[in-house]
Amino acid sequence: MEKIYDVMIFGAGAAGLSAGIYASRGKLDTLILSEGVTGGQMVLTNEIANYPGVETVKGYELADSMKRQVKSFGCTLKTNVKIKEYRLSDEIKEVELGDGRVFRAKAAILAPGGRPRSLNIPGEKEFEGRGISYCATCDADFFKDKRLVVVGGGNSALEEAVTLTHFASHVTIVHQFDHFQAFAHAVEEAERNPKISFIMESELREYSGGETLEKVKIENLRTGEVSELETDGVFVFIGYIPNTEAFRDFVETNQNGEFVVDPLMKTSLPGIYAAGDCVAKRYRQVTTSVSDGTIAALSATEYIRTKN
Ligand SMILES: Cc1cc2nc3c(=O)[nH]c(=O)nc-3n(C[C@H](O)[C@H](O)[C@H](O)COP(=O)(O)OP(=O)(O)OC[C@H]3O[C@@H](n4cnc5c(N)ncnc54)[C@H](O)[C@@H]3O)c2cc1C
Repeated sequence: MEKIYDVMIFGAGAAGLSAGIYASRGKLDTLILSEGVTGGQMVLTNEIANYPGVETVKGYELADSMKRQVKSFGCTLKTNVKIKEYRLSDEIKEVELGDGRVFRAKAAILAPGGRPRSLNIPGEKEFEGRGISYCATCDADFFKDKRLVVVGGGNSALEEAVTLTHFASHVTIVHQFDHFQAFAHAVEEAERNPKISFIMESELREYSGGETLEKVKIENLRTGEVSELETDGVFVFIGYIPNTEAFRDFVETNQNGEFVVDPLMKTSLPGIYAAGDCVAKRYRQVTTSVSDGTIAALSATEYIRTKN
């Protein structure tokens, strides 16, 4: 008889590793399978300054420390794997890797994270992390007294633009339509803010600079005119793509493709839990992923103990 793990976790970011720490410390036979590297988005983050108890830490260092911790409790961790097929509907959850290996478990925790939607324009790869950001909570502090551009017209864009004015000298919001999609109160607050100005019916076309970002090209969609704006940073808030594609046939997702979970992180399918940036929620941080992963692991533990 092939080995059956107690719990199989998909994703080795903050959520998956936290779930792994709790599950394996609770003596569950735990397997983490990740299509990415250990740490997920944490390793894309130069410095994390808002993780409680650790004043400032490099993203990869926090990831490495979580990896050592999860392994010390006996969790099996396999990263950079390619999963070919998911068979999650039956009581025993099963996956098959590209190399033919099959793994089984009594419960599963989905923690595949997500990725911010980007503009996909010239200069993007060059200046990501050197002027281009997708997270005001994470990076605002690096732009004290600087000129910033915010791209987007939804609630995140307008609320984060207001947040950024607590740090920056000025924020210019660039939005493709002549009106915003955000709630009226968010629009009013941004419009009332003396540090915010607006460029409507326009889109960014190019990022440029030297060591760091220095300017952007902006096209007016009505006139076709292209102008340049000097800026120290651009924050892009045009949506978020959860990495849930592989699981959508098995568990319920909302109109944004995010997993729908209850407060115990249960999905619509018994024995399957979800955690981290992939679930429907407003705030996406390392701390919130760690919290989700903890709850998912404890819920999965209870599910398995009850079954046994
Ligand atoms: C540039 C940047 C800076 C940030 N700075 C901060 C900060 O300063 N402070 C803070 O608190 N937060 C910050 N964040 C946000 C924070 O990093 C995330 O909220 C958090 O790391 C998400 O963790 P996660 O485990 O949910 O997902 P992820 O970190 O995205 O991990 C998911 C992992 O699962 C893998 N995967 C995807 N699909 C599958 C699949 N089908 N099967 C198996 N594995 C899969 C992915 O490759 C990935 O490695 C930042 C984010 C970015 C992008």
